[in-house]
Amino acid sequence: MNLSEKIKSVEQSITLALNAKAIELEKKGEDIIKLTAGEPDFNTPKPIVEAAYEALKAGKTKYTASSGIIELRDKIAKYISKRTNNNYNSDNVVVTNGGKQALFNVLMAITNPGDEILVLDPSWVSYEAQIIMTGGTPVHIPLDFENGFQPDKKKIKRYITPKTKAILINSPNNPTGMVYSKEALQDIADIAKEHEIFVISDEVYELLVYEGTHYSISSFEGMKERTIIINAFSKTWAMTGWRIGYVVGPNEIISQVGKIQSHSTSNVNTPTQYAALKAFDVDVYPMFQEFKKRRDYVAKRLEKMNLKFILPNGAFYFFISVDEFGYSDKEFSEKLLSEVGLAVVPGSGFYKKGFIRISFATSQENLENALDRLEKFVMNFRG
Ligand code: PMP
Repeated sequence: MNLSEKIKSVEQSITLALNAKAIELEKKGEDIIKLTAGEPDFNTPKPIVEAAYEALKAGKTKYTASSGIIELRDKIAKYISKRTNNNYNSDNVVVTNGGKQALFNVLMAITNPGDEILVLDPSWVSYEAQIIMTGGTPVHIPLDFENGFQPDKKKIKRYITPKTKAILINSPNNPTGMVYSKEALQDIADIAKEHEIFVISDEVYELLVYEGTHYSISSFEGMKERTIIINAFSKTWAMTGWRIGYVVGPNEIISQVGKIQSHSTSNVNTPTQYAALKAFDVDVYPMFQEFKKRRDYVAKRLEKMNLKFILPNGAFYFFISVDEFGYSDKEFSEKLLSEVGLAVVPGSGFYKKGFIRISFATSQENLENALDRLEKFVMNFRG
């Protein structure tokens, strides 16, 4: 059919493809454990759910300003100002349908055909697709396991051309779980200023940091003007299905993002915005502690299996090398699924071959069971 070549060239999300296979096996009655989830297993905290209910009961069911209710934009502006030591106000904020739409709108707002957007690999599955869909050219920069998957100044500089429009960064990172060091962020800030490019900073995991500190690059000197922050309520407040996130950035860009929002989806559904308003009052520390406990448990088990990985200091993923097994990461993942009923995501879905990603956003019982299966597979292979 004569459809858009651009969209046809975009691949289906590998997470979805593998999950579909796992679900198919489950339907056939097979006992499958999935470590593929990119979302917390917790329910959304009760006060947030109740705030949505109250909003509905109070008749808050009409359109709002397409960029979001002013109370929420104000709250987000204050929150991000505090975290970045910058001075943002509600005009610097657009509330979006999740972090995903936040990023899409930003890419739409800044990209002219052929503009190059730098992406650091391993990278989240939707970056490449969104860059292509919005008319840009993704430029992949491979980061090294040996360097802890930290951005490398010399390497990034090699990929800068006159067409470079922006660099897209993600810390804490999906899929590696790495939090970028202050030095690495300073290097990126220096490059962005020298070459006058934007930094799109995906900070959806900013509160899931187990050691060290998360710095937003917008807090670095001279960076507020060229940083666009992507964030969401999805991960921190276990609100993935509500679909609410936001963009914070310079007025000039935010007004374009607002225009895109107003002509496409309009406002995020109204009760959800009131729910998100409540989120800022909810203590998420108990969920954080549970994630940390699980991370430590998984690390201990993987160490015992002598698998090669870097301890993640953020997010809720382990990125594990499977080079020693002699299969591609896709073959390894398929074998895990068919032989021991364990679903993981192959690293090539994140533009990094030879690794698998497992998520520890699942119950302790599931984790124990899953790691028993992985251990069995590994031990069988090694003989
Ligand atoms: N960025 C990253 C790095 C993510 O992992 C995700 C979710 N998997 C998102 C953005 C999108 O988040 P949301 O569900 O809020 O659209």
